[in-house]
Amino acid sequence: MTTTPHRPAFGTVLASHMAVARYQAGAWGEHHLQPVAPIELSPAAHVLHYASTCFEGFKAYRHADGSIQVFRMDRHIARMRQSARHLVLPEPDAAQLEAMVRAVIDRCRDAVPEAPGALYLRPLLFGTTANIGAAATPASEASLIVLASPVWDYFAGGMKPLRILVDDLNTRSAAHLGMVKTGGNYAAAMGPTLAARAKYRADQVLFCPGGDVQETGASNFVLLRDKHLLTRSLDTSFLHGVTRDSLLVIARDAGYRIEERPFTVAEMLEWVKTGEAALSGTAAVLAGVGTLIHRDTEYRVGDGDVGPLTRALRAQLVAIQQGQAPDRHGWLSKI
Ligand SMILES: *Cc1c(COP(=O)(O)O)cnc(C)c1O
Repeated sequence: MTTTPHRPAFGTVLASHMAVARYQAGAWGEHHLQPVAPIELSPAAHVLHYASTCFEGFKAYRHADGSIQVFRMDRHIARMRQSARHLVLPEPDAAQLEAMVRAVIDRCRDAVPEAPGALYLRPLLFGTTANIGAAATPASEASLIVLASPVWDYFAGGMKPLRILVDDLNTRSAAHLGMVKTGGNYAAAMGPTLAARAKYRADQVLFCPGGDVQETGASNFVLLRDKHLLTRSLDTSFLHGVTRDSLLVIARDAGYRIEERPFTVAEMLEWVKTGEAALSGTAAVLAGVGTLIHRDTEYRVGDGDVGPLTRALRAQLVAIQQGQAPDRHGWLSKI
């Protein structure tokens, strides 16, 4: 991650207020806004022992007309509900979660930075039932909290091409939970990622169990070449990124051939001789890969710098998010 000296790193600053709702006795209670403060939790809380937790991450942008616009809020709310379902946590009510997001943004309106900064929204759900014998029993009580965090230009220090370790041994998550935005998946990626940083100066690990390319610890993976985009087709093994989906739409609009299918490490290494590789996700939108490291061999991606297709697709999506290009697909919600 790149920072300038006067801008805090992504996620380290919280806006002043959060929205909170509790699930008890089979129903969600009213939500309320409160100043961000420590929360009270039993040391026997379900989440602390059995990792019953999921979250979301998306952004609200300040447009030139002063309005605040949230990018694809409906998709993120739907994914949060899907994550909850897979973890057998109480599903947040879509209308209530949207109201909580809107309330936080409205209360923290002044904290939304100018573009290219944004207000990052982080809804979070966790099981609170106090029972240390509940390894095979779902939480019957839960909390839903919406936090917000002002974030600044991710690439303020310039777009540096990433070094990515291609790991064909480790798996990022249980096969049926890759599509769930749950804390345990990040815990699973942490060890391999830190080891790759120490041993290879790698920025991220691309998980490719058995040679099957999936994604990195927190980003989807795309290959680009000659107006052709290749990315893994949706299955339960990886997170279905909203950025990924948006890029596919924009690339298709721009005349790209879109291919969604499984592909192997061997095919990827062949592709990058003349093509581009990039990571996609809300935080950076699209980040170019310069080097792939596989079994102690370094493979340069294209000319080793962030490629022109990566830069152009990123610029097109960012222009829509920031209101400099028309929102043809109805992706923005005004607050
Ligand atoms: C959040 C996340 C992504 C990116 O999803 P977006 O909706 O594009 O932000 C990709 N992979 C993982 C593992 C993630 O957690």
